[in-house]
Amino acid sequence: MKALSVNDLSKQYRNGVQALKSVNFQVNQGDFFALLGPNGAGKTTAIGIITSLVNKTSGSVQVFNSDIDHQLSLAKSYLGVVPQEVNLNLFDKCINTLVNQAGFYGIPRPEAKKRAEDYLKQMDIWEKRNSNARDLSGGMKRRLMVARALVNKPKLLLLDEPTAGVDIETRRMMWSFLRELNNQGTTIILTTHYLEEAEQLCDHVAIIDEGEIIENDSMLNVLGKLKKEVFILNLENSLDVAPKIPGYETSLRSPREIEVSVTQSQGVNDIFTELKKIDIKIISMRNKTSRLEELFIELTNNQKEEQQR
Ligand code: ADP
Repeated sequence: MKALSVNDLSKQYRNGVQALKSVNFQVNQGDFFALLGPNGAGKTTAIGIITSLVNKTSGSVQVFNSDIDHQLSLAKSYLGVVPQEVNLNLFDKCINTLVNQAGFYGIPRPEAKKRAEDYLKQMDIWEKRNSNARDLSGGMKRRLMVARALVNKPKLLLLDEPTAGVDIETRRMMWSFLRELNNQGTTIILTTHYLEEAEQLCDHVAIIDEGEIIENDSMLNVLGKLKKEVFILNLENSLDVAPKIPGYETSLRSPREIEVSVTQSQGVNDIFTELKKIDIKIISMRNKTSRLEELFIELTNNQKEEQQR
């Protein structure tokens, strides 16, 4: 059973921006699916269309086989959404935020109150139940939005950048909560521009760039395409030329900085051993580009090679 089917979906905004260009992807029931891409790639637009907040230009979307053009309320009944922007009524008490939301789905009040208690407790904000949403911290507001999205027991939960701007504690808590929810059978789609977040949580990933899906595969297969990482090493002493490390590509960025390219089959340990042998001390080390950027370079190079063939 498909939880979501997105077919030839395109969106052109009034200002002429083509945010989605004939996008296709499907999500199986039970998947934990990442829609991964840099800022401006079209992720929020896609979520907006699926949840009927944004009008599509063309294409179709089905949620558990219900088409959003023809069976919108049925499609919506399957969905829970956590948007990127805080869209809470800031003057509502937290408990009422959930009870009112349940009202939109026709859930009787006693049941609504019970669910509100359950989800506020699960999100660890039950003690804030009588506070106005505006008095919550950023991380708590996000947790309240997750609790609100769960009130209709959605079969498909969509989260747009769920941990953007939240503290580490909230991020960890959110991750373990989402894993558990997925284990219990809820299909989850999240958008993110952190490869690490997708990697931690998701079993499937579609990568979107400039409104087009450039990759759609299991997380394991996609990570397998990450062929190399480039590290920058800061050195204690200055050098005139880049040191030679057998098996590695090196270059000098500045007198006290070298760049080393490391392929998947190589570790970084040999670099340290080899440099120690020639008395070069490393003070610190960092990735030149994020792994996601590296993956993009890899994928777009592959695409170009295919086009040239
Ligand atoms: P993402 O969520 O991946 O960051 P978005 O879907 O927000 O990407 O944006 C995709 C593109 O559409 C961007 O170029 C963005 O500037 C543009 N865009 C988004 N919303 C609007 C809007 N309401 N009007 C015009 N352009 C928009």
